[in-house]
Amino acid sequence: MGSACFITQKATREILLGVTNMCAECYSEIKIGDIIHYDRIEYRYLCKICEENIRIEMNENSENVEEEGAMLF
Ligand SMILES: [Zn+2]
Repeated sequence: MGSACFITQKATREILLGVTNMCAECYSEIKIGDIIHYDRIEYRYLCKICEENIRIEMNENSENVEEEGAMLF
């Protein structure tokens, strides 16, 4: 099992057309080129603000913090 719960990526036209164009948590609009985070547990896209909040919550709930896989480009 991978350790990272979120996959960080840039919003593409394909993502916005195929999945969603808003954050699943705060419903703010996501635009092409925005940094978004795919939640691998709940299969949804989050804006970076919500991802941060959830990640902080997770870190508080468990001390088991591991490095997330960073994108290289
Ligand atoms: Zn959000």
